[in-house]
Amino acid sequence: MSSEAIAREVKRRRTFAIISHPDAGKSTMTEALALHARMISEAGAVHGKGGRRSTVSDWMEMEKARGISVSSTALQFAYEGAHSGDVPNVINLVDTPGHADFSEDTYRVLTAVDAAVMLIDAAKGLEPQTLKLFQVCRHRGIPVITVVNKWDRPGQTPLELIDEITDRIGLIPTPLFVPVGIAGDFRGLLDRRTGGFIKFTRTAGGSKIAPEAFFTADEALESEGDAWIAAVEESELLGEMGQDHDQEMFLAGQTSPMIFTSAMLNFGVRQLLESLVEFAPAPEGRDGIDGTERAVTDPFSAVVFKVQAGMDTSHRDRLAYMRIVSGEFERGMVVTHAQTGKPFATKYAQAVFGRDRSTVDTAYPGDVVGLVNAMALAPGDTLYIDPKIQYPPIPSFAPEHFSTLRVTTADKYKQFRKAIDQLDAEGVVQVLRNDLRGDAAPVLAAVGPMQFEVVTARMKAEFNVDTILEPLGYSLARRTDEASAPDLDRQRGVEVFTRSDGALLALFGDKWRLQFIEKEFPDLMLAPLVAAA
Ligand code: GDP
Repeated sequence: MSSEAIAREVKRRRTFAIISHPDAGKSTMTEALALHARMISEAGAVHGKGGRRSTVSDWMEMEKARGISVSSTALQFAYEGAHSGDVPNVINLVDTPGHADFSEDTYRVLTAVDAAVMLIDAAKGLEPQTLKLFQVCRHRGIPVITVVNKWDRPGQTPLELIDEITDRIGLIPTPLFVPVGIAGDFRGLLDRRTGGFIKFTRTAGGSKIAPEAFFTADEALESEGDAWIAAVEESELLGEMGQDHDQEMFLAGQTSPMIFTSAMLNFGVRQLLESLVEFAPAPEGRDGIDGTERAVTDPFSAVVFKVQAGMDTSHRDRLAYMRIVSGEFERGMVVTHAQTGKPFATKYAQAVFGRDRSTVDTAYPGDVVGLVNAMALAPGDTLYIDPKIQYPPIPSFAPEHFSTLRVTTADKYKQFRKAIDQLDAEGVVQVLRNDLRGDAAPVLAAVGPMQFEVVTARMKAEFNVDTILEPLGYSLARRTDEASAPDLDRQRGVEVFTRSDGALLALFGDKWRLQFIEKEFPDLMLAPLVAAA
């Protein structure tokens, strides 16, 4: 394919993730977005009949028991909207696990997207997981569109929500639309650019696209009265405060276009899609570790951002998800694995969403492809077609949970060590060691405690090793250096470890201990890790 043709494919793509706290409506919104689009590679509904989460992958018994997804998957659909031009847009929605015990995988997903939709509940405002995920977006410079969901239910006022976001995270919302009707009385949206009114009509159960009718300001004043006047005043006030969309500020992560929705009623969902297409950036090239530039139209390259093992117990496989960075991907292509220099055959490339897989034949920058039997691939790895490129590794995120892991029977020690190395390489948990503790009981560090359960379950299922976890009384990690490590190690309630990537980590029982040490020894190097709580 010519580079012009690849450039055209890239231009019509948008790859994003929804970041939210559980229950804000991410699944409902995903379903609503899919409803507005012509699905490309999704087989069956996102939600099955009779229960939520029915298509999440159930690759481990643990997942089945809890009805949650440990995996991240990608949904691709075509969308033909007002900004689409001659060909429909291609939207890639990369799913993030939605459980409270989320893990590093959740963060890693954000390395694969070009934009994020921050979905918040109109009544609850910013919640802890939204905040944590937002910090990762900020750190990685990912532009964020803010969606205030559940506007059909009583909640805060638009200005309260705007103030909360501005004050707590320093992101300035620039509403593209303001709701007409208070939270709980969602009539429609005032389009701040046209000044017109988009009126929504409920459909039975919200299962269909909500019909929209367009009215002028005068007509809206006539029909909606005070609700319209309030919306106009809010819009004007925002204008006076300078809170209008600014594309440069948005891309710089300083402002966030804001939309009000009811995912359940399908209100505002089209506006969200339109805004994604209009404002979210199309995939861009990336730089290799050595500074080499790879443009989207250059030969194929991709980054693995997630590896999932044991999805199906009947035929144990290992699935690696890659995000394509450059070039055209064709199934069957033999690519090179930058980390080992070895060839990797892509005969079994798949698009995966939930339980459903379908074969992918071609894919372009921004797309997510699952590779089956990817035993050698780990998160952060690069795949390419000559010339060689290797992208920077995915950062490890700040762990908050620490446990030692021991094997119960001494004769399994060898398998135990092998398993630890394997799970460490896959990025299932972080593995920390120091001389004092030795190798028999390494310390596992996780962003979410469920990562530990994945380790013990896989130890048993794949390596036939029984292990016991013993929680350690630490809850905070800071990066330190060789010079500071000995002094830190001497302090009560502090322990220094080497992580397998070579980083030195000092662990603390709580933030008071950390603050005390920082105050007593201001010269010691103690730096926060990515997404520090
Ligand atoms: P998730 O945990 O973020 O995926 O949230 P879900 O999509 O599962 O939604 C959580 C609950 O909120 C469910 O009972 C949904 O029906 C409900 N919900 C989601 N969106 C809306 C909305 O816009 N309005 C109302 N009233 N309820 C919603």
